[in-house]
Amino acid sequence: MICNTGDIACVRKGGTCQHILNRCNKYQRGLCNGGWTRQCCINNNPGDTACIEKGLKCQQISNGCNQYQSGLCSGGWTRRCCFNTASTSCSAAVKSVACRIKYLSKISLLKRNPSGVIDGADPYSNIRDACAGRKVKRSSYTCSQGKAPGGTTCLDLKVLQYIYYLGTTSRYRVQVNAIAGACHSRRSKHYAGKAVHLQLFGSKATRRAQEKAFRAACSKRGGWSHGGTHVHCQIV
Ligand SMILES: [Zn+2]
Repeated sequence: MICNTGDIACVRKGGTCQHILNRCNKYQRGLCNGGWTRQCCINNNPGDTACIEKGLKCQQISNGCNQYQSGLCSGGWTRRCCFNTASTSCSAAVKSVACRIKYLSKISLLKRNPSGVIDGADPYSNIRDACAGRKVKRSSYTCSQGKAPGGTTCLDLKVLQYIYYLGTTSRYRVQVNAIAGACHSRRSKHYAGKAVHLQLFGSKATRRAQEKAFRAACSKRGGWSHGGTHVHCQIV
């Protein structure tokens, strides 16, 4: 039943309008009434959650994959969770710093993209995969700036060292909102694992001081940054 005619664009695409805190594999903005926290869930496939939460992907077994695990995906026995063992090619240094970040309690890592999309490309999943020596996932959804390319990338050592440095030295809270995941402009350094978004906290004055400190640390490491709603730092 459609109670809300403002949701018709979403319903026509076969989606459901819901609060973004509900689990969904793919949210699309601008199709629902009720502000940005209510978005259209296009491809809600709860049966795939066990696979997606491992940072992996459900696919037909006729598609190439080095190793499948059964029982983690919806859609019958021909659709399984792909462990791509070929993507274990990132450096030992990246792996080591990623593990240090993973176990540093001062650093919090979001477990979903800031958009609400859950796709295994959030900061927690990125760090977990990098710590396992794997390439990390990028998102593949669209946003006003463009479309995230999907696929995987190694995280870059310099940006990880920057995050770790903040976590061990800064007096401000360190919350990572995005690294390789989420949707950004077309040639964003995020997609190469060379940029990070950090949350700002507290009063306007506190946020301004935190922004200044995080941006200064970024510059000191040869990076480029911008502030605003969050700090973006890229080191290339
Ligand atoms: Zn950014």
